[in-house]
Amino acid sequence: MTTDVRVRFAPSPTGSPHVGNIRSALFTWLYARHTGGKFILRVEDTDQKRESATGLQDILDSLSWLGLNWDEGPDVGGPYGPYIQSQRLELYQKYAQQLLDSGHAYRCYCTPERLTALRQEQIKRKDSHVGYDRHCRFLSDAERAELEASGAPSVIRLAVPLEGQTSFHDLIHGDIAIDNALVDDQVLLKTDGFPTYHLAVVVDDHHMRISHVTRGEEWLPSAPKHILLYDAFGWTPPVFCHLPRVLGPDHKKLGKRHGATSVLAFRDMGYLPEALLNFLALVGWSYDDQTEIFSREELIRVFSLDKISAGPGVFNHEKLDWMNGVYIRALDPADLGDRLAPFLARDLGLTSADEVRQRYDLTAIAGLVQERILRLTEATAKIDFLFADKLDYDPALLIPKKLDAATALSVLRRVRAILQQRSMADEAALEADLRGLADELGVKAGAIFGILRIAVTGQTVTPPLLPSMAVLGQDACVARLDTAARRLEALNAPID
Ligand code: GLU
Repeated sequence: MTTDVRVRFAPSPTGSPHVGNIRSALFTWLYARHTGGKFILRVEDTDQKRESATGLQDILDSLSWLGLNWDEGPDVGGPYGPYIQSQRLELYQKYAQQLLDSGHAYRCYCTPERLTALRQEQIKRKDSHVGYDRHCRFLSDAERAELEASGAPSVIRLAVPLEGQTSFHDLIHGDIAIDNALVDDQVLLKTDGFPTYHLAVVVDDHHMRISHVTRGEEWLPSAPKHILLYDAFGWTPPVFCHLPRVLGPDHKKLGKRHGATSVLAFRDMGYLPEALLNFLALVGWSYDDQTEIFSREELIRVFSLDKISAGPGVFNHEKLDWMNGVYIRALDPADLGDRLAPFLARDLGLTSADEVRQRYDLTAIAGLVQERILRLTEATAKIDFLFADKLDYDPALLIPKKLDAATALSVLRRVRAILQQRSMADEAALEADLRGLADELGVKAGAIFGILRIAVTGQTVTPPLLPSMAVLGQDACVARLDTAARRLEALNAPID
């Protein structure tokens, strides 16, 4: 196993990371961990107009939440830092100058107005190639000197060879060749001294000794420009591996119309990081086309780049929900309770998850919902009766079919007496008593439990009743039976 693998995730901090991007980060991380290589986080913030204020923090939070730890990066440093591109401007400027000096690049003085007009004309003429016409590449020395003297702002462009082809090998897409005539003279350094993505990515991948560039397929058309830059610098390019796109169930690019797309939104919707990780690993990669559940360690062990599909991966929300349910059911109840705490705090209006942890027996609460939820956000609605001061239900529900109000009332009184004698935790004894009461009164046990369920929870469908009562405690249960009895009496009172 080689230890020379150095791979990177290089997001631009333009917003909360998209699950499609993070899927690429996951493949990259898995490859690093599988090979014992290094996973590097580099922030590509050279397009300052598109930056978002929380972008960097959202990237760090998304990766940390999923446990995709990095060996080198903006916060942890490393031997090839800084890992934020806006802090490396001098390096890019130096290399842009080097390309100018070697004749691989040239200064372009074209104004934005000229470029827009050129583009519109090309579109109107239905030109097969829309792009820069290389106008400034062929300026005479005198013209160039005149423009410089006038103080006209300039960018630096790559002088793409006018003939021939650029070819490279992609691990997933195979051999790729493109006619140089179709490659634009890409801007490398902008008027403000910032590099474009293309210059920065090549300079950084080289300087950070990246062995494999694993990134989304949308960058495949840019790869020839990068190869030309490697050639111009005389550097050996890394191995390229363009990862399949992530589509929605309708096979269109995964976007807002399919629902949430940011990793942090999935966290807030109650998905477990280990479930999302497992799910994302299978979007565009599979081990044997049938195994679905993989722990993080198993993924690291079995992951390989050659099993990544060339076709797009589909993000199937139903499958994610199913998988999340599998992971929730496999949790230790204490662990599940702990993870429910922030959601309960939010839904119950408590100040913090810790307050929930102090106030309630979360392990017992987790036990009530563990088999019944697919997402952590679904828990509160199933157990909110535990926290209510007053239950809101139609008292007529206290009278089961085929029974009358008087019988229901006597059931409530007798059940009250039973509850007072028993510990709520002794479910077996409690159940035996309630069944004995059913026999004695000649009513079905189901009717007794039905009355009790409404009285204690206010709902007809709840988690298992006796464990719910154990969480609620004896005093609360008895008080709720008393309230139910009063409501039944009021229902029954003659109307004058
Ligand atoms: N900064 C690019 C992005 O945000 C990364 C492209 C690359 O990995 O080369 O997608």
